[in-house]
Amino acid sequence: MISHKYKSPNFNERNLSSALEYIIIHYTGVKAPFSDICKWFEKSSSKVSSHYVIDYDGKIYSFVDIKYRAWHAGKSYWNGNKDINSASIGIEIHNSGDEDFLKDQLESLIYLIKFLMNECNIKYHNVIGHSDVSVNRKIDPGKRFPWQTLFMEGIGVFSNRDSYNYSRLIPREDNQFFIEDIQQMLKNIGYELNITNKFDDDTIRVIRAFQRHWRSSRVNGLIDISTKDILLDIHSQFNEARVA
Ligand SMILES: [Zn+2]
Repeated sequence: MISHKYKSPNFNERNLSSALEYIIIHYTGVKAPFSDICKWFEKSSSKVSSHYVIDYDGKIYSFVDIKYRAWHAGKSYWNGNKDINSASIGIEIHNSGDEDFLKDQLESLIYLIKFLMNECNIKYHNVIGHSDVSVNRKIDPGKRFPWQTLFMEGIGVFSNRDSYNYSRLIPREDNQFFIEDIQQMLKNIGYELNITNKFDDDTIRVIRAFQRHWRSSRVNGLIDISTKDILLDIHSQFNEARVA
């Protein structure tokens, strides 16, 4: 099921002070033949790699052994950890970002994640996106990625609350909530964010990242009724998952 035909030289030893806890999902983000991705990962000067890449036909290729630290996440942060490459397994799905993920790819992805969760004792809530851990630089796996499909397979956290109430909530002015509470919840979930009690650019970027993952019908960085409801739900689900 998993091909070992290709190898990437772009890896090193994991920093053993952080446990292997996460699976990070990516898209390749290019309209190019799969062979171009292989060449890129095989070339040492590219300085990038991923443990796995899933082609359009659903075939899974291993580029780096999971015992090593592949170079897929770059500068990153999640829940206090600044070296996500040491703490994670990276999976790239071949997808340009402007197209739907294919059924064969998703079936293989779910198979692979379940296998890795079992093999490496990775918890369901620790399957997240590159855009979650590199908020300022990355948007993959993007708005089209079907997190709900994975959730139905016991992978990841997801909220089924109403996604379509776009009525704006204005921080502080209408006294409906304080921006500090929003920031605290986003930070508790895992995002890199300072509690400033101001609706600043960093907060807007993190809200956009949150929406891209959990409220993809509209990604605008603003706080509306649905964004707030879903945030409350996701926040409590992470709390429950972490104490379990
Ligand atoms: Zn990525």
